[in-house]
Amino acid sequence: MPPTHEVTNQVPPLVGHDVAAYPPLLESLAREGAGWALDDLHALGRRAGGAEAQEWGRLAEKNHPVLHTHDRYGHRVDEVEFDPAWHQLMAVAIESGIHAAPWGDDREGAHVARAAKEFVWSAAEPGHICPISMTYAVVPALRANPDLAATYEPLLTASVYDFGLRAPATKRGLIAGMSMTEKQGGSDVRANTTTARPNSDGSYSLVGHKWFTSAPMSDFFLTLAQAPGGLSCFFVPRVLEDGTMNPIRLQRLKDKLGNRANASAEIEYDGALGWLVGEEGRGVRTIIEMVNMTRLDCTIGSATSMRLGTMQAVHHARHRHAFGRALVDQPLMRNVLADLALEAEAATYAAMRLAGATDRVTRGDESEAMVRRVALAVSKYWVCKRAPAHAAEALECFGGNGYIEDSGMPRLFRESPLMSIWEGSGNVAALDTLRAMAKQPESVEAFFGEVELAAGADSRLDDAVGRIRKDLTDLGDVEYRARRVVEQLALVFQGSLLVRHAPSSVADAFCGSRLGGDWGAAFGTLPVGVDTTTLIDRAGVEA
Ligand SMILES: Cc1cc2nc3c(=O)[nH]c(=O)nc-3n(C[C@H](O)[C@H](O)[C@H](O)COP(=O)(O)OP(=O)(O)OC[C@H]3O[C@@H](n4cnc5c(N)ncnc54)[C@H](O)[C@@H]3O)c2cc1C
Repeated sequence: MPPTHEVTNQVPPLVGHDVAAYPPLLESLAREGAGWALDDLHALGRRAGGAEAQEWGRLAEKNHPVLHTHDRYGHRVDEVEFDPAWHQLMAVAIESGIHAAPWGDDREGAHVARAAKEFVWSAAEPGHICPISMTYAVVPALRANPDLAATYEPLLTASVYDFGLRAPATKRGLIAGMSMTEKQGGSDVRANTTTARPNSDGSYSLVGHKWFTSAPMSDFFLTLAQAPGGLSCFFVPRVLEDGTMNPIRLQRLKDKLGNRANASAEIEYDGALGWLVGEEGRGVRTIIEMVNMTRLDCTIGSATSMRLGTMQAVHHARHRHAFGRALVDQPLMRNVLADLALEAEAATYAAMRLAGATDRVTRGDESEAMVRRVALAVSKYWVCKRAPAHAAEALECFGGNGYIEDSGMPRLFRESPLMSIWEGSGNVAALDTLRAMAKQPESVEAFFGEVELAAGADSRLDDAVGRIRKDLTDLGDVEYRARRVVEQLALVFQGSLLVRHAPSSVADAFCGSRLGGDWGAAFGTLPVGVDTTTLIDRAGVEA
């Protein structure tokens, strides 16, 4: 058949670029003490933006995991089969030290370098970051049982991806998960009904179910269960020391909106053996150490999502023409792109500041622990909350092509609400900030101490800080108002970071929109006079 038309004005795929070439990330890396990781970060960035890793990401999501409950003879096997691309992604993440590696690395900034690498590598595929993140997060909680930590921490931090169901101590590298949520409640884990009966040898036998347990091929889970002394945290391996399977039954995998490369299972503990981590009755206190680390990763993941969406939108707008001009030269599109870029910058600055705080807290910095307490809670709420709206708008910059799977934007969009649900859904994250205020009032002052390092530099920021300080003098109906309060706190945190560290035009745009009042409810409503060129150029990459 003769050609009916010539294909024109379609955008070349964005591939072969360096994902790490993002000024807000690189500025933060240096500022937070991990400038030494720059070369590795760029190498990983080129790999993440390369054709091979992009294809792994596509395949891992398309060929999603399959559960095998039984073998051909009817024996239970409880295994999940993944596309080979999944294993490639996992191997690179672990070789790059995005898993638990910083816990075995004394260098200042090790947790910052790891956060930046996670930011960059999740551009290849976000789903596999779930087990990587949980493996990172499990270490501080596991240390509540020094014997278990002594045995397994070296294997968690090892840079080897060793997939398969074998006794953990016999493997060269381990992956960990967490098992808290039950059918009757995930936010309120005190309602857990899984029981843990003590055995004479110091172990416990767990009976019950978990409604969501991601990464079910993990080597062990930290699991909450009701012991005689109350809700407690247990180390529960998939395979016991003698090589037999611990009776943990994978019932089915969730059919999820997004995050499809990753497996999330419903599981049953049918007398599974577990070992106490922390004291009986202090399960939440113990596992919260893990949850706090994954909350950091939720914030990083949402910042990544916004950075990728903006990068793709800018690329599209530079190549696509309408009404005689490139989209990127149309004033209203410039407003949309700059607004998306600003949101991603602010999120990246906040996430990396929190990674820096985490690094310093692990070195015993108490004042950073206080700043982090509030700053993490408000950022987990706000940065994650912004991601879906951001992804939808970035997708729309592509027009109809953005709605089509090949563009990759539906994948970004499907993934985007998850970080806000995980590890404390929106309201729970907002209420966690109130809990910090009530139980550790000194953390609020530490937070304001951080924000007010920018005092006097921009009157719009000063006024916003004054308003939220005034709001907090009257705590009437504060639970009802929690989202509004937390949003304001998150915005002044971001504003302060940008005013102190970002180019002045970026900080000016933030204060003139998010803090100064002249801004609409949708993206693309920045006031006149914003330096859109700087914002758009910082968000774009050269392919
Ligand atoms: C893909 C996926 C993977 C997951 N993986 C895991 C995993 O590996 N391990 C695990 O343990 N869990 C996992 N979860 C579960 C997840 O952590 C929970 O879904 C989440 O904590 C919310 O719990 P829930 O679903 O029971 O909702 P609920 O607790 O019923 O909450 C429903 C809504 O009510 C709100 N809410 C709750 N309490 C209050 C309150 N006091 N005031 C106002 N609003 C409130 C919540 O914010 C939420 O919006 C996963 C979930 C998903 C979607």
